[in-house]
Amino acid sequence: KSFSIGSSAIPIVNRLQDIFAPLGGKLLRIQLPQVAVIGSQSSGKSSVLEALVGRDFLPRGCNICTRRPLVLQLENRPAGSDSDNDQEWGEFLHLPGQRFYDFSKIRREIQAETERAAGFNKGVSDKQIRLKISSPNVLNFTLVDLPGITKVPVGDQPTNIEARIREMIMHYINQEECIILAVSPANSDLATSDALQMAKEADPAGSRTIGVITKLDIMDRGTNACDFLLGKVVPLRLGYVGVVNRSQEDINKNREIAEALEYEEQFFRVHQVYNGLSDRCGIPRLAKKLNQILEQHIRTVLPGLKAELNSHLAAVVKELSTYGEVMESKVEQGVVLLNILKNYCEAFSAMADGRSEEM
Ligand code: GDP
Ligand code: MG
Repeated sequence: KSFSIGSSAIPIVNRLQDIFAPLGGKLLRIQLPQVAVIGSQSSGKSSVLEALVGRDFLPRGCNICTRRPLVLQLENRPAGSDSDNDQEWGEFLHLPGQRFYDFSKIRREIQAETERAAGFNKGVSDKQIRLKISSPNVLNFTLVDLPGITKVPVGDQPTNIEARIREMIMHYINQEECIILAVSPANSDLATSDALQMAKEADPAGSRTIGVITKLDIMDRGTNACDFLLGKVVPLRLGYVGVVNRSQEDINKNREIAEALEYEEQFFRVHQVYNGLSDRCGIPRLAKKLNQILEQHIRTVLPGLKAELNSHLAAVVKELSTYGEVMESKVEQGVVLLNILKNYCEAFSAMADGRSEEM
């Protein structure tokens, strides 16, 4: 199953992020939009991410699996635009040039790379793993999978594990440009959701938080998530989407994502309480909502980003002039880079303007 999309706006932002990633210092302060997935341990964060990507590649399970932030850059490559044709592949920043076509190998590499920084015994590290996925079947955006909130230290975890994970999560979601996917399982009380509580702290106005309710299939018999989805329990400006991911049994049986998506669709068809709420149900709906919000968000922050780039550019040019004849190659590179960025921004503005005129 694919969520193909015609949008051409977001690849530019992905490219900007690529350029920024290896740079240290001042430039890193320019924050670009990302989507961060937050919630308590085993709430279904990694499952939601995988379903959005449409591929199996993340460590998932009932234990602590996500132990380092995983920055996942999805890149929509139009079919037939590459000699690899319709193939999907992943590439890690720490293994440049190496394309992973086998997604189970991506999962193994994430696990191995997790262990390199966070050890073998449930330890957690804030050091990012960066993975790019190029595919004709994904929406264009960057997602961050984060370790879940836990309360009781296990294995090599420090006694202050909860505080440390909260701090790590806040680091991502405090950024004004970060869109928050706040994941809460339907089989526990939404009013006690860690995800919603932290999202509220970082985004009190609720202007960049989407609520995701997982595990609709394993709610207590006689209950349903309608009040959650309608925002009657915890109101959320951008609203909620309810989803059904694969269960642990499905994972053990290697049930495929396509099959799981069909099951999800059928679930919402069969369970009549959700019939009137189809705009709040299902992974495809979540993907659509996310992309709309992301595009709108980029359009809003773009003028500020442009102004910031311009002032950086002015500062670098000024610095350059103090060197006189002898140009330091680093400064020169800086100017070139900033000009590239500026061109990207202008191209994007033109595109966004063009589109708003269409509307
Ligand atoms: P994370 O710790 O938040 O990343 O959660 P995972 O995605 O690793 O999922 C934790 C466990 O919950 C796994 O065993 C999943 O199979 C299970 N799970 C996640 N979402 C659902 C769902 O919607 N329904 C069911 N039945 N199980 C789910
Ligand atoms: Mg996880």
